[in-house]
Amino acid sequence: MQAVVEPKAYSDGVSTFLARAGKLLIGNQWVESDTGRMFPVEHPATGEVLAHVALAGVSDADKAVTSARQGFKRWSGLSPSSRAARLFRLADLLEQHAVELAELETLDVGKPFAAARMLDVPFAIETLRYNAGWATKLTGESFDLAYQSSPFSAGTIRQPVGVVAAIVPWNFPLLQAIMKVSAALAAGCVVVLKPSEVTPLAALRLGELAVEAGLPAGVLQVITGTGAEAGAALVAHAGVDKVSFTGSTAVGREVVRSCASDFKRVTLELGGKSPNIIFADADLPRAIAGAAQAIFFNAGQACYAGARLYVEKAVYEQVLQGLVAAAAALRVGDPFALDSEMGPLVSARQLTRVLDFVAAGRREGARVVHGGTRLDRPGYFMAPTVFTDVREEMGIMQEEIFGPVVCVSPFSDIRDVVARANDSRYGLAAGIWSSDARKAQTVARALRAGTVWINTYHTIDPAMPFGGWRESGWGREFGRQGVESFTELKSIATRL
Ligand code: NAD
Repeated sequence: MQAVVEPKAYSDGVSTFLARAGKLLIGNQWVESDTGRMFPVEHPATGEVLAHVALAGVSDADKAVTSARQGFKRWSGLSPSSRAARLFRLADLLEQHAVELAELETLDVGKPFAAARMLDVPFAIETLRYNAGWATKLTGESFDLAYQSSPFSAGTIRQPVGVVAAIVPWNFPLLQAIMKVSAALAAGCVVVLKPSEVTPLAALRLGELAVEAGLPAGVLQVITGTGAEAGAALVAHAGVDKVSFTGSTAVGREVVRSCASDFKRVTLELGGKSPNIIFADADLPRAIAGAAQAIFFNAGQACYAGARLYVEKAVYEQVLQGLVAAAAALRVGDPFALDSEMGPLVSARQLTRVLDFVAAGRREGARVVHGGTRLDRPGYFMAPTVFTDVREEMGIMQEEIFGPVVCVSPFSDIRDVVARANDSRYGLAAGIWSSDARKAQTVARALRAGTVWINTYHTIDPAMPFGGWRESGWGREFGRQGVESFTELKSIATRL
């Protein structure tokens, strides 16, 4: 086992960054907020205040959009290869600062440093590189007109939508920011990025490195502040052409209402309550480990967490025992300790919310067979929690808890499990564990979800479109489709 790193053992680079993190990035300048107000950022493992960050208001949002409108002329006027070159340079810079970025994610979110260093940060950088590659590869198509008899040359081109408001949540702050910023910039758009008020640090550091990488003024602005004030002001701003939002379904609904006034383009990555199905013919040790990882990774604070676990009756007891053993063995603790597998929840508010769900589940008659409580230590730690005796109509089976809480339920019939898995207003992701390829494919086709994983979970990739059906969202991120979502399609017909 590797040595335990003291919680405060983050690098000097991070310490100096925390001291200067209180400004907004507008037009490549670090400026004070017009509100003059600041808000504290906490380390969830201790509750200590790490930094004070600017609380942007309506006029700050307006300045950021105005700057972006000017930046759009510069950026969309560059050749695709010049844009790509700058994005690749940014990726290299991020790589040089990978440890520091991972430390920031751990400080801000409380996620284990090992995960931030090995997963979040490298994956974010590869997403940036992947999207940068698309800058030079977006195309329209040419075709023959169907109805016209005289000769025409006809086809489509893709053009950038314009100014994008990118609004992201707190569970994967750097990755979420980079997903949106890199896809938008590759498509020729410019961005005003608003990170979550709970985790604003990585976005601010990304902004600094973007300036260093040579992004022209106005291409990326970063404004910190609340959703109700800065976020809502961006969404309502007439100078914004597209909103790319990741967050809760409730706020997504507000975003849609606001965008409806001027028909802004909108992409929404929202909540989930994903089913994970283990068939009796699965490789059980793998399936059990996969099911534990599906819910406990990032302390369950993942939109695609496998929160409803359906297990075929013949192996139900075995899987349940295995899952409880996995939960009991999970090392929950100081996220800077290199052997920690689960850190705290992101905030006191989130911990309360999750514990309230657990209490409600108990009241409804579900049984906690492991965990269910907060840990007796500073910070917002909670035990990995396993519920049984659940029914589909219970709140804990229908609502997104967004914490390390899994509901386990037996099934005996494929049609029944498909119907129960689909009995959700969400449709983000689903998992299937089986050694019968035909059965797994059949079930995968029957599930109403944007992504289905077979004999794996959490497999996201920059090349694989990701997004939700139903109340899990609109549109896709990642893949060609993710970059194209920042373009408008224009048809051009020329009479020859
Ligand atoms: P949230 O909806 O409270 O906030 C998300 C972002 O929206 C934050 O930056 C917030 O400041 C901003 N915001 C809040 N109110 C706003 C408003 N009225 N107008 C504009 N912006 C506003 O969500 P959260 O608590 O930060 O994150 C957790 C949620 O995010 C969960 O529901 C989770 O499922 C979802 N999520 C979805 C995905 C996905 O890809 N589908 C990924 C990660 C998280």
